[in-house]
Amino acid sequence: MTQLHTLSVREIADGLQNKQFSSVELTEHFLKRIDTLDKDINSFITVTPELALKEARLADELRAKGDTRPLLGVPMAHKDNLCTQGVLTTCGSKMLSNFVAPYNATLVENIANAGFISLGKLNMDEFAMGSDNESSYFGAVHNPYDLSRVSGGSSGGSAAAVASGLVPVATGSDTGGSIRQPASFCGITGIKPTYGRVSRFGMIAYASSFDQAGVFGRTAQDCAYLLQAMSGYDPKDSTSVNKDVPNWLGELDKIDGDKPLTGLRVGVPKEYFGEGLNNEVKAVIEKSLQTYVELGATLVDINLTDPKITLATYYLLAPAEASSNLSRFDGVRYGYRCENPKDLQDLYTRSRSEGFGAEVQRRILMGTYALSAGYFDAYYVKAQKVRRLVLNDFLKAFESCDLIATPTAPTTAYPIGASLTPAEIYLGDVYTIGVNLAGLPSLSHPVGFVGGLPVGLQLIGKHWAENTLLNATHAYQGATAFHKELSPIAKS
Ligand code: GLN
Repeated sequence: MTQLHTLSVREIADGLQNKQFSSVELTEHFLKRIDTLDKDINSFITVTPELALKEARLADELRAKGDTRPLLGVPMAHKDNLCTQGVLTTCGSKMLSNFVAPYNATLVENIANAGFISLGKLNMDEFAMGSDNESSYFGAVHNPYDLSRVSGGSSGGSAAAVASGLVPVATGSDTGGSIRQPASFCGITGIKPTYGRVSRFGMIAYASSFDQAGVFGRTAQDCAYLLQAMSGYDPKDSTSVNKDVPNWLGELDKIDGDKPLTGLRVGVPKEYFGEGLNNEVKAVIEKSLQTYVELGATLVDINLTDPKITLATYYLLAPAEASSNLSRFDGVRYGYRCENPKDLQDLYTRSRSEGFGAEVQRRILMGTYALSAGYFDAYYVKAQKVRRLVLNDFLKAFESCDLIATPTAPTTAYPIGASLTPAEIYLGDVYTIGVNLAGLPSLSHPVGFVGGLPVGLQLIGKHWAENTLLNATHAYQGATAFHKELSPIAKS
């Protein structure tokens, strides 16, 4: 019973079905772990024990009455940029520290309809801007492999909660790597699907043409359960794409045999293995590619846009979109309002200066500058053109391969309070953001350790080919044991 948090989603679903344990027992187990262990991790901003136990009791009753939804009563938790009706939704910001969402995000609804139970809301960088969770108004998240180190970001709470065994699976969002990089730092699997696969309705906007929700789990199979539940067309999101959601789980079950990846061409871009990549991380990544070869895949040399160019393009466009999106937080309609404003101008200025943290203010300034009349063509329009070229380079590369493999991040998790400059932090996103410029699906899975800290391999797929990423990872995880490794916190 004490090991319930080490079970896979499938084992949990089977255990519920076979009455080995109830949803109430499961939920209590995870809530107890959160209560005792999360003070060291800080992965939750809000825990909702009463709501969760009420839902768990209902799930047990429904199951007893013959409800056959396999995931009925399985616990999970949401990143705190997803609107959850009646529950605090802070986006990691003082600006929304008092905001109770009046409705559910579509993906929150979808997940609840599949039967999952939410245990609460997970810590994140403020407005999802950051790569180490240190910009959260609610404090940094501690890495469960080494509490003095960062969890990654911006979905740092989601990654650390799963890696600590506080929830089996969690949602996240990925605008420039915010699922893949924390998954890599915390030694778990995280997938960002194709842009348009999961509704953005009710997900607080950072950079709308990049933002895409996805999931964290220990394995590709765990991720597939939650991703399957949340994906699908939503008329409330104009960029949601009306396309059938394949049966990803069914496909995983067909993977079998010694060389399950025979015929798979894995593209390896040399631009992603150059200067800036830590040598030990590089060695672990190269070893993992050899495992792919042993499983039947062939490695193909490909070329992609220099990742330094994609980095500059992203850090121009994403702040531009953010500066526009965040103009709605004006102290008038909702969120933080300053005390005793002198007049309307003072209300706007002080509410925004006091409500937003330094990184968010920096992005608003950079974005406003790039969009201002004199600079729009030189910066914003030019970056949009480069964005198209980045996509073209990916499409060209996919003529000779089925998926692309790269390091997820140039380093392992760094110490909390390392006092990196903003530019140094941005450089850590160098391998993940091309994917978001091109709207491609991408996944990070654990492939080893350097000095006791996890390393993730990034896989990038063609548009709508989440199945290629999940299948390849499942095959890799069938032949290796890195995904079975538990962090010291998950072992406790
Ligand atoms: N680290 C990147 C940024 O700060 C990506 C964040 C994200 O994906 N939400 O913008």
